[in-house]
Amino acid sequence: MKPTIAIYDFTDCEGCEVQLISLLEDFLEIEKRVEIVNWRLGQEDNHQIQFDICIIEGTPITREEQKLLRSLRKRSKILVALGACAALGGVPASVDQTQRKKWLKKIYGAKYKSRGDSAKPLSNFVKVDAIIPGCPATKKDILRAITDLLDGKIPATQNFPVCKECKANNNPCRLLNNQPCLGPVSIGGCDAICVSGGAGCWGCRGLLENGNLPAFRKTLEKFMTKQEIEQFMSVFLSNDLIINKPNTKT
Ligand code: SF4
Ligand code: SF4
Ligand code: SF4
Repeated sequence: MKPTIAIYDFTDCEGCEVQLISLLEDFLEIEKRVEIVNWRLGQEDNHQIQFDICIIEGTPITREEQKLLRSLRKRSKILVALGACAALGGVPASVDQTQRKKWLKKIYGAKYKSRGDSAKPLSNFVKVDAIIPGCPATKKDILRAITDLLDGKIPATQNFPVCKECKANNNPCRLLNNQPCLGPVSIGGCDAICVSGGAGCWGCRGLLENGNLPAFRKTLEKFMTKQEIEQFMSVFLSNDLIINKPNTKT
């Protein structure tokens, strides 16, 4: 029997699932080795209960999503966080809760009760076995992770900074020109795509485990205020101290 893979999504933009679909021929090759059993975006018959691998995109912000996540954990041998929303809380976690409440009241009225909570990574609720990082996760990483899992290996997280690939691409360093960039403390593997495209790195793949954050903050403080630094880092890293480490919750 082929191993079963379920794909679920919580609150997010579904961009990582689009990347999965964009694998095209490679996706068809994967399908030869597995049975995809529950995938709301890709098929209609989604009634399987137990899974060998459960890939989850998005952050569970409602109680219903959190309950489903705990249930999926119990029913899956391997649970994988797909993309920055699932791995870090992602962009939804950058929302200032005080501002959010203010705008909810203004738009929907004082009696409206939101079902959503602040965005947290999956690892805040359950044990996560593997992470496919990025916003969106790259096709290369998705393919590598699924291939590793089918070969019985847990996909490893890269342990080098974005700067490594940035220098290999001969980009001028933004920090030397007083432009923000989280490359030195961010997990690489994306080929420094944002920096090569003219933007800074925002750390969408998560914090490097051995990155020197205090020293890095001091570098940024030479040309940014503390408030600007917090805003910059909170786009992806507002849950930064609990990210990238599969925890021991069950
Ligand atoms: S990680 Fe980015 S691309 Fe993926 S679902 Fe979240 S917001 Fe969308
Ligand atoms: S531009 Fe950013 S990623 Fe590139 S070398 Fe400088 S700090 Fe590192
Ligand atoms: S350069 Fe930074 S923000 Fe851009 S994809 Fe790579 S890790 Fe993510």
